[in-house]
Amino acid sequence: MNDSPADTDSNSYRGRFAPSPTGPLHAGSLVAALASFLDARRHHGQWQLRIDDIDPPRAVAGSSDAITKALVAHGLVWSGPVLYQSHSSSHYDSALDRLMSSGWLFRCLCTRAMLDDNGCCGQHCQEKNISAGTPHSLRVKVASERLEGFSDRFLGEQPPLAETAPKDFIVKRRDGLYAYQLAAAIDDAKPSFTHIVRGADLLESTYRQRWLQHLLGLESPSYAHVTILVDEAGNKLSKQTGAPPLDSRQPEHNLRQCLQHLAQPAPSSSARRVPEILDHATEHWCMRR
Ligand SMILES: [Zn+2]
Repeated sequence: MNDSPADTDSNSYRGRFAPSPTGPLHAGSLVAALASFLDARRHHGQWQLRIDDIDPPRAVAGSSDAITKALVAHGLVWSGPVLYQSHSSSHYDSALDRLMSSGWLFRCLCTRAMLDDNGCCGQHCQEKNISAGTPHSLRVKVASERLEGFSDRFLGEQPPLAETAPKDFIVKRRDGLYAYQLAAAIDDAKPSFTHIVRGADLLESTYRQRWLQHLLGLESPSYAHVTILVDEAGNKLSKQTGAPPLDSRQPEHNLRQCLQHLAQPAPSSSARRVPEILDHATEHWCMRR
């Protein structure tokens, strides 16, 4: 599933790691950070850090700082300034305006209990004349035949999402916050980023984000969804499921564990320090299942 890094450089490869500031870095997020870092480095590309801070109620004070410190401790140093999604509201608003004027958005009054099994509007809100003054969420309509398959650099060809396709999804929440799908679709598109490497738990989101990119006339980046870490019960290792923070006093051990999870060759035992481990991992980086 690997592609040749020979013809890429920092102009043609821009990747990123985009954590939410909802807690410290844990082993699961280090896997995503390391995979995106190594892929960018192998392609002589740029690797940036974006803090996806569009959900203040879920934010945990001090986590952005804790995340950046943990990345540095593991040798994962990004190019340029740290980007923050909270600085992009004007882009999101203008995208919503465009979607509304092209007829793809509608106002929805549904509470969680009113949604259908797919999480879509369950009360035909788009046929009601809901005024802008009534508290509502904004949903984008989906032309289900347009949830096209795509080629994933890690997982291979992905089929269209026809069977379980949603007929709509939220792009702005009732509480006024921008939805993850909207912000990620806009911020991950070309030319800002060319290659997205992230956890396979986001595979289905990619269909929605590619749909939004299509509607907004944005060019989709290439996607690679790597295997995520799960706990013994098979649940995604995440801050929400209580994954412990990484011990940044043992970065070499943590990196070796992540490389093993990513099915990469183990750095030789003579590679004792972080830079040596990362150099070895970059040289041998190969997307494989
Ligand atoms: Zn509704």
